Amino acid sequence: MCFSLELPDHLLRHLVDGDDLRSHGYRGRFAPSPSGSLHIGNIRTALISWLQARLMQGDWLLRVDDLDTYRNRNGAIEGLIKDLQWLGFDWDGPIIFQSARKGLYSSFLSFLRRKGKLYACRCNRKILRKSFNPVNQKRIYSGKCRNLDLSWGFKDRKLPGWRLRVNENFSEITGDILVRRSDGIIAYHMASVIDELTLGITEVIRGKDLLEIMPTHLAVADSLHSSNLIYKHVPIMLDKNGQKLSKRDGSIGLSKFKEDGMSSSQLIGWLASTLGLVPYKSELSLQELLVDLKKKQNVLKSVFSC
Ligand code: GLU
Repeated sequence: MCFSLELPDHLLRHLVDGDDLRSHGYRGRFAPSPSGSLHIGNIRTALISWLQARLMQGDWLLRVDDLDTYRNRNGAIEGLIKDLQWLGFDWDGPIIFQSARKGLYSSFLSFLRRKGKLYACRCNRKILRKSFNPVNQKRIYSGKCRNLDLSWGFKDRKLPGWRLRVNENFSEITGDILVRRSDGIIAYHMASVIDELTLGITEVIRGKDLLEIMPTHLAVADSLHSSNLIYKHVPIMLDKNGQKLSKRDGSIGLSKFKEDGMSSSQLIGWLASTLGLVPYKSELSLQELLVDLKKKQNVLKSVFSC
């Protein structure tokens, strides 16, 4: 960690605590958003991440990404906890709710703003849709408001979004990143990176569908002079039509399997078999699977290289 950023002591302490936790061993996490019931693909990602943490004799944290109140669904938090417990997942420490950490995120944002690393952006969706980078064929913010020094207050009854000036290594890849939306909601990219850093996460394991946001997360970490985040991506499960599963669209979750009379051991066995970890039709609890995999060397390697 490089501390030349002149962070105030209370924020620096959070980053130092994170580094300290990281130096004591492996710490992974699973971070669902409560936008619906966990689908079977989310559960398989949780399984891989839990196995990796336990095989490394490390900690595994459960974090609920519940900042986007418009997308949160009633009962989703209770539902995901119940589902994970039914499957036999255990996590270390209390469940972390991002909604309870807003003060911390806001303090980091205020600091970045004071340092001139953020600017007010008043681009609406229509303008943003037009931002397109021909180099990587992605929608990347054009930087329209970067040098306009727009006010941070209300204008036409609207507040601006807060955008992070990324350094030139990232500008072509990510563009300047929205870290606080104009409705005041702290963006997932910002909250998530602050969490990985301050909670001492050593390795983030998540679905391949999130691979494209990795540079964005690295750029946010870079703005805090942190470069010690490791991301690994695992294959995602697709539906019959080859489409990505989605919580919000109500993709198949545990209830369907339970209705069909499947036990948690059958489900764990089936999910592990889809990863080539056990033979098809195996039935075993999460703990039994862990014991089984401990006998084998480097068993998750093939999963990460898929
Ligand atoms: N909370 C987000 C989701 O459920 C992101 C997860 C992550 O960063 O692992 O898709």
